Amino acid sequence: MEIREDVLPVLRPLGGKEEIESLANTINSGWWGKGPKVSEFEKKFAEMVGAKYAIAVTSNTAGIDLLLKAINAENKDVINPTMSFMTTAVVPLWNNCSSNIVDIRKKDLNICPEDVRKSLKPNTHAIIAVNYSGILAPIEEIRNFFDGFIIEDCAHSCYTKGAGSRGDAAVWSFQAVKTMPCGDGGMITTNDKQLYEKLLPMTWLGITSTYSRTTNKNSLSNLSSRPGYSWDYDVKTLGYKCYMVDLTAAICLEQMKKLPKHLEIRRKIQQKYNTNLCDYLEPPEHSETVQHYSARVPIKHRDKLIDYLSEKKIHTSVHYKPLHKHSIFSKENNREYSIADKEWLKLITLPCHPAMNEGDSDYVIHWIKEYFNNN
Ligand SMILES: *Cc1c(COP(=O)(O)O)cnc(C)c1O
Repeated sequence: MEIREDVLPVLRPLGGKEEIESLANTINSGWWGKGPKVSEFEKKFAEMVGAKYAIAVTSNTAGIDLLLKAINAENKDVINPTMSFMTTAVVPLWNNCSSNIVDIRKKDLNICPEDVRKSLKPNTHAIIAVNYSGILAPIEEIRNFFDGFIIEDCAHSCYTKGAGSRGDAAVWSFQAVKTMPCGDGGMITTNDKQLYEKLLPMTWLGITSTYSRTTNKNSLSNLSSRPGYSWDYDVKTLGYKCYMVDLTAAICLEQMKKLPKHLEIRRKIQQKYNTNLCDYLEPPEHSETVQHYSARVPIKHRDKLIDYLSEKKIHTSVHYKPLHKHSIFSKENNREYSIADKEWLKLITLPCHPAMNEGDSDYVIHWIKEYFNNN
């Protein structure tokens, strides 16, 4: 087989004329900030994941940050898994919490409930549980012995049935290479009305949306009984600025319509890799979203295979280098991570995204077989 000319990326977003048209309509509407598109997206997203309340924000990172502030986690302990993206371990530090990084379990690389139990401290205030690669984390097991706040990180599980319904709040990501991308964006969902009402003004310096003031709904102002735009507002609580805008929501709404089709493509690629490569690598557990197809290969082959595929214009990745390995954490963390330290050296993420065609996945399969037949 000849080496292809263009690189096959490991992850990439796929949009088209629908996103462009939706964006053009929003640009022409004259309302670019937080407005009707964000409201529509929040409503439809909440319905999709079966949550009572949804707040659209600029990223999952911003969402987790707001939650830690809303639950007064400062100076307390926050448990999070080592097999995750930097957000879940760094945002606690950003909030002056101790970032209590725990090990994973071998079968699906999700947070290990037993290690959570062992790592609990008297001041453990919250646990961030990541649905790794879209596979549900064992939150029910953790609930058996922990009654503090659980944040379900759903950055990989948009949408896995049941995701977002097991913690006290869930945080989603629409970052460029997630399953429902818009560039950058996130969502907090919860069934807790009080928490929702606390979080909402935190997304904009304690102010309520200007759009709600043009429509005279939810206004804090006494002038709101007048028709038209009401300029007045009163800030009662502290906040930051991290709400989603209509330009982004316009893309999210179109990506949400395409989500079932895009997930179907991802699952087909997953199935095809599983069937054709199971003699060469250890396939991952089944994922509904296949946020990343992370297989395991013998340690001695991992880096060689990555280089070999790269020569064939196939980009791969590793999800993840365990977070405790980063210098920022190694000072405090001299404990052992017996599973993560061994398993991550076997991990390789193969290309899997909706922009791939049959030829692309055939191409990956061909070169992986070729590598193992010669090594
Ligand atoms: C991508 C990701 C995040 C961060 O999402 P952003 O929207 O980029 O802030 C958080 N947690 C996990 C597990 C992720 O993969």
